[in-house]
Amino acid sequence: MLSYDIAQFGAPLQRFERPTPRPAGTEVLVRVSASGVCHSDLHIWEGYFDLGGGKKLTMAERGMKLPHTLGHESAGEVAALGPEASGLAIGQRCLVFPWIGCGACDVCRAGEEQLCLNPRFLGVHRAGGYSDHLLVPHPRYLLDVSDMPATVAAPYACSGLTTYGALKKLGPLLVEKPVVIFGAGGLGLMCLSLHKAMKGKGAIVVDIDPAKRHAALTAGAIAAIDGAAKGAVDQVKEAAGGAVWAAIDLVGSSASASLALASLTKGGKLIVVGLYGGEITLPLPSIPQRALTLQGSYVGSPGELKELLALVRQKKVPPIPLRARPLGEAAAALADLKAGRVLGRTVLTP
Ligand SMILES: [Zn+2]
Ligand SMILES: [Zn+2]
Repeated sequence: MLSYDIAQFGAPLQRFERPTPRPAGTEVLVRVSASGVCHSDLHIWEGYFDLGGGKKLTMAERGMKLPHTLGHESAGEVAALGPEASGLAIGQRCLVFPWIGCGACDVCRAGEEQLCLNPRFLGVHRAGGYSDHLLVPHPRYLLDVSDMPATVAAPYACSGLTTYGALKKLGPLLVEKPVVIFGAGGLGLMCLSLHKAMKGKGAIVVDIDPAKRHAALTAGAIAAIDGAAKGAVDQVKEAAGGAVWAAIDLVGSSASASLALASLTKGGKLIVVGLYGGEITLPLPSIPQRALTLQGSYVGSPGELKELLALVRQKKVPPIPLRARPLGEAAAALADLKAGRVLGRTVLTP
């Protein structure tokens, strides 16, 4: 099998050839047809998350061994089944749920594997989809997507699931109040189309890049605001009709989170999703006095991915702008994403 791996943090991905694995036990071998390039791949490739104040969380500290195959948005065909794997046909087209836990703890048994303390996430802790083959531990992590192209299905495993999980956390606010979405990259555009499918009240998008603001307006945002502009807070409030009750920060930078918190009205809710990095300083009395809710959201559960695919089918959610690139261009695709040259999602095709 062929893969493009991190051999050294921050250096261009390298091509590796290894014997194609044989699935054992309940494992399933998937022939990868499409693998999305996600912003969090950038952080893993660079080797750290920025904790702000000069502090870093390094991938080495998190136990990552190199070489490592990235890729957690994978779709493909069942190539081989382990002796104890059943319920799938060879050649069946599937989307891979990558946020796999230990499978045995209370959290996993409650269906929240993405929150397991002993994660085995594909593309993070185990080999991912920047490859022509991918080993999946159990058939239950494969969802049938025979009715959609693999390039369209793949981004639902992270960018779709992440934004769906964040939108669900808004609760009744989703349909009652406009939401302010920070970031109009691949996640932002996905969030907009799902927000519409979920009958959201209206979405205001904040992004510093004019091309991305334009894409957001084309995708149905009621307003698109430059977060770096003077008076951005007032512009956001005005676009929301005076008071911002709900915000989703898909960037997760000091600037985006500060702007989001400054925009919220009393009783407002901020869902932080993005991993750009940095820190915020928040006066503690403001949390009770403004009755703020600050909540994190990390990808989503296996059940939520099923719900999401059902929503996409039922509401005929249009795919976000996609660009398919050969797997051999994996290193260039990461570099383009880092430089902000990607509109929508890049999907690698072996
Ligand atoms: Zn991702
Ligand atoms: Zn677990």
